[in-house]
Amino acid sequence: VLVVRHRMRSSGRWARAAAVIRELEEKAATPIGKLRQVADAMTVEMHAGLASEGGSKLKMLISYVDNLPTGDETGLFYALDLGGTNFRVLRVQLGGKEKRVVKQEYEEVSIPPHLMVGGSDELFDFIASALAKFVASEGEDFHLPVGRQRELGFTFSFPVRQTSIASGTLIKWTKGFNIESTVGEDIVAELTRAIERQGLDMRVSALVNDTIGTLAGGRYYDNDVVVAVILGTGTNAAYVERAQAIPKWHGLLPKSGEMVINMEWGNFRSSHLPITDYDQALDSESLNPGEQIFEKLISGMYLGEILRRALLRLANEAALFGDTVPPKLETPFILRTPVMSAMHHDNSPDLRVVATKLKELLGISNTSLKTRKVVVHLSDIIAKRGARLAAAGIVGILKKIGRDSAAKAGEVPRTVIAMDGGLYEHYTIFSECLQETLKEMLGEEASASVVIKLANDGSGIGASLLAASHSQYLEVDES
Ligand code: BGC
Ligand code: MG
Repeated sequence: VLVVRHRMRSSGRWARAAAVIRELEEKAATPIGKLRQVADAMTVEMHAGLASEGGSKLKMLISYVDNLPTGDETGLFYALDLGGTNFRVLRVQLGGKEKRVVKQEYEEVSIPPHLMVGGSDELFDFIASALAKFVASEGEDFHLPVGRQRELGFTFSFPVRQTSIASGTLIKWTKGFNIESTVGEDIVAELTRAIERQGLDMRVSALVNDTIGTLAGGRYYDNDVVVAVILGTGTNAAYVERAQAIPKWHGLLPKSGEMVINMEWGNFRSSHLPITDYDQALDSESLNPGEQIFEKLISGMYLGEILRRALLRLANEAALFGDTVPPKLETPFILRTPVMSAMHHDNSPDLRVVATKLKELLGISNTSLKTRKVVVHLSDIIAKRGARLAAAGIVGILKKIGRDSAAKAGEVPRTVIAMDGGLYEHYTIFSECLQETLKEMLGEEASASVVIKLANDGSGIGASLLAASHSQYLEVDES
């Protein structure tokens, strides 16, 4: 009798679990028709954001970059990259067309979490001090002409309203940073003051978003790069726009006729997005409710957290992990996307990796194969939704710049997308799904001319290249 009762109870649990999973599957579904609507909405919002300031949730920020690297850049330049859990300092000796990057060195420093939500000066002092130490280690292989100040390209991967190539105010923080006193401040002024407090003699020559740095770094090696996408902790895209297609730009028309736009697509929002209860709860409990909705469906900071929320619901409502809910499963952000990825890629027949991760991370032991399969299945739904939405976003950009179809007269230009970010780089199922979805949406012919190139930390090199092309000594050198 006992055995029978137990079985009945267990089958009831599984029926309940199946229902919860089915509901997620339905609400998170991204059939091709829906993706086309998302792509079209992206194109529409791009137009609106370019038309007027505040015209759209898509800010379509003007980067003041109207010339991308040519290869002619020369000299010693520094770059500083702040945007995720790590920041990076870099120095590079540029040798012009023939020699290109003669030598480069970098260092990565992780940011203590308390500095992400503390005071502005504390964060910038920490960064400037690491920068000063790095500069002090500069060796003989790097050459700075006598009497010159060192120059820096600053990659700052948050939404900034630029006022020139080397100034701009922070619109808001994203990705778990939350330092109120920095919002509305000039980021270059903040960094410059901290650099001065270190007694370091250095000038910020370019302030760029990581998408802009990636676009610049990508273009340095490949002339056909016109779009950059970041899929990492956060997500965003930038692309080369015709200056005349930017009604809100009232400045002089650049000689190149072009302007790079930082879309801030993480803040894209549309009624066509497949949003579930888990997403809604994640958003409302986040540091930035109502903001970065597209990002919260796609990027590395959130995928693991969505999975945790789905597992928690299954633990509560279908006793997925037994009669008690594993307490650790209640901790927000405990399940990080790299762990989700490791479980999702588990190829062992008994899903050993899943078992180990559940045990190590969440203290859940003795899971059945069936339970582990649920974890993999949920990961698949969540990761693929993100990848497919990112692909739809890219198609939206390609439409805007007329590169989405092979049917146009004449030769189809090659379109290269410079891609950066750990999510794309390391989460293979995610990146393969993104590529497949691009093909599915564009068709074989058109997608043949679209290339995604992984630009491994291209934004550091890109920022130093832009520092070079906006150097205070440029005219001296040219005359
Ligand atoms: C920021 C963008 C950045 C992206 C990728 C987003 O959260 O708003 O400025 O480009 O993350 O790092
Ligand atoms: Mg980065």
